[in-house]
Amino acid sequence: MLKAVTRCLWSNPVAGRRMMSHHISPNLSGRVAIVTASTDGIGLAAAEALGQRGAHVVVSSRRQANVDKAVSLLRSKNIKVIGTTCNVGKAEDRDKLINLTIEQCGGVDILVSNAAVNPFFGNILESTEEVWDKILGVNVKASFLLTKQVVPHMEKRGGGSVVIVSSVAGYQPMQGLGPYSVSKTALLGLTKALAPDLAHSNIRINCVAPGIIKTRFSAALWENESMLEEFLKQTSIKRLGQPEDIGGVIAFLCSDEASYITGETITVTGGMNCRL
Ligand code: NAP
Repeated sequence: MLKAVTRCLWSNPVAGRRMMSHHISPNLSGRVAIVTASTDGIGLAAAEALGQRGAHVVVSSRRQANVDKAVSLLRSKNIKVIGTTCNVGKAEDRDKLINLTIEQCGGVDILVSNAAVNPFFGNILESTEEVWDKILGVNVKASFLLTKQVVPHMEKRGGGSVVIVSSVAGYQPMQGLGPYSVSKTALLGLTKALAPDLAHSNIRINCVAPGIIKTRFSAALWENESMLEEFLKQTSIKRLGQPEDIGGVIAFLCSDEASYITGETITVTGGMNCRL
């Protein structure tokens, strides 16, 4: 018994460690993929995973310098990629992103809606209308509007795949992150609401709900030792997630291997409890 416990404690920290694979099949070659907020973190990892599988990737975020950096990083890895600035909260930016993609890549097959903002931390009762407008506008409304906008282009290609990035916070609101958590719950609903109608156009839509992933966005959660310890207590795999842990799952959902999956959310949390 003691031996088993010791073995478990010893092996637990390395559980779920990623094995390097050098044999990624190019199952997305010929596809064009738009990934929003893709100059850092999860979006960049998704762009890389899609690109490694042969997709022509369109990266974007608010700042040109970030776009330039991401484009050259991905090019250095032999990924076919173009980039533009796009604040997903702005209609003219969304138009620019779609138009550029159609002009330069000839169509669109994949949309990964990954952008989110969180301008508020604190007691939910202190959040203002302005905060709610911003969070719901960028995190939820823009995801819907972008999806709506790519549908006719995907139809021209005979179908497509949309992946929306939600969060474990969508299942269990995080303390201090009330409005943000609610916006992430809304994305679970958006995925389900869109799935039947998009299926008529041979478009699948799915959602990924990451746990605590080591990025700048979540730094407040993992930089603090005791908070990190608290989070790790809730996971089975005793480490923070890496952006690559999410990128591969997104690429899988976009691939034909997931051809019978729609309206679904995959939680990628290292075993955190996710239940609405
Ligand atoms: P990150 O590493 O900080 O990267 C954020 C990216 O978003 C950057 O490329 C940033 O570039 C861009 N961005 C920010 N606001 C934007 C906007 N309005 N329009 C377009 N691009 C924008 O963040 P991340 O952790 O990867 O987060 C990505 C997604 O994962 C978000 O939806 C987040 O809610 C979700 N998520 C993250 C975690 C986590 O633990 N990290 C957990 C669950 C879910 P610019 O500054 O140039 O715009």
